[in-house]
Amino acid sequence: MPLTEDQIAEIAELRSVSQPTLRATAPGMEQHLYTAHEVLDHGFVRVIDYMGDDAAIVQAARVSYGAGTRKSRDDSGLIRYLMRHWHSTPFEMCEIKLHVKLPVFVARQWIRHRTANVNEYSARYSILDREFYIPAPEQLAAQSTVNNQGRGEVLTGEEAARVLEFLKADAGRAYDHYEQMLSQEGQQGLARELARMNLPANIYTQWYWKVDLHNLFHFLRLRADAHAQYEIRVYAEAICNIVADWVPAAYAAFEDYRLGGANLSGKALDCVRRMVRGEQVTQETSGMSKGEWREFEALLS
Ligand SMILES: Cc1cc2nc3c(=O)[nH]c(=O)nc-3n(C[C@H](O)[C@H](O)[C@H](O)COP(=O)(O)OP(=O)(O)OC[C@H]3O[C@@H](n4cnc5c(N)ncnc54)[C@H](O)[C@@H]3O)c2cc1C
Repeated sequence: MPLTEDQIAEIAELRSVSQPTLRATAPGMEQHLYTAHEVLDHGFVRVIDYMGDDAAIVQAARVSYGAGTRKSRDDSGLIRYLMRHWHSTPFEMCEIKLHVKLPVFVARQWIRHRTANVNEYSARYSILDREFYIPAPEQLAAQSTVNNQGRGEVLTGEEAARVLEFLKADAGRAYDHYEQMLSQEGQQGLARELARMNLPANIYTQWYWKVDLHNLFHFLRLRADAHAQYEIRVYAEAICNIVADWVPAAYAAFEDYRLGGANLSGKALDCVRRMVRGEQVTQETSGMSKGEWREFEALLS
């Protein structure tokens, strides 16, 4: 279970009190504030705080004194223009602070995004919970034979059962030893900062993660992408849903230009032009490598 009864009550209490403010608020985001969106078997993402909305992006781009009298249609058009032309700083005027609970091996991928502010749960100070990520049966896949960084067929039957048993038993045994090392009978026990060493990478950790919208979009473009590992992708997808409610115009532009769009190399663009003129272009005449051509064909299919 991602949250205890006490934590659920704490969130409900936070959501029951509202305060008047002169600051701009985004109605879509107010719906999400504090609420935990479950991800994987024990994880979650929840919004702790945020700053700005679609209007803040537009105001920054125009360096204006107020919300102005322009219609939201104009604002969406400007936001699309900014996104299309990689004019990124207005998007940095919006910020979001998330509380994320995630397996350590997912955290290792996530932390590579250096343009955020992070504060992680201290396993030197506190004792980690007995919570491990165990993949759902449909995610228990074999190594891909075509992609060194990917998955192939889903494991079934005895093989799947054996793998699941390994994952559960190894994690359970490591945690038993962790507990035993922390509390040796009649003695002090090993320091928490050392006892944690043998814990597996599928144990859950938590952090507060604060990032501006420009860098969040960069994160989402990489991690909500089909090439990202499933276990981080589901977090990115949960965040995408939140961002779509927070800054609908900016998210729509992001979805169109970044998630749904693609970058073409000069050679690829040249091929498209030749194809439009009716020429039959093949890998051999494209000037592209086999790998590039495969990706190009996939893009157009
Ligand atoms: C599908 C996938 C597979 C991956 N596989 C691997 C792997 O096998 N091994 C591995 O080590 N990593 C891997 N990564 C991580 C990847 O290389 C990046 O580290 C990660 O995606 C963070 O990207 P970023 O540096 O652009 O993001 P951020 O750190 O958020 O940076 C955003 C941007 O800020 C700028 N920036 C930030 N810091 C600096 C800096 N110090 N110097 C210059 N510019 C900076 C850059 O323009 C950067 O693009 C993988 C990522 C993905 C999405």
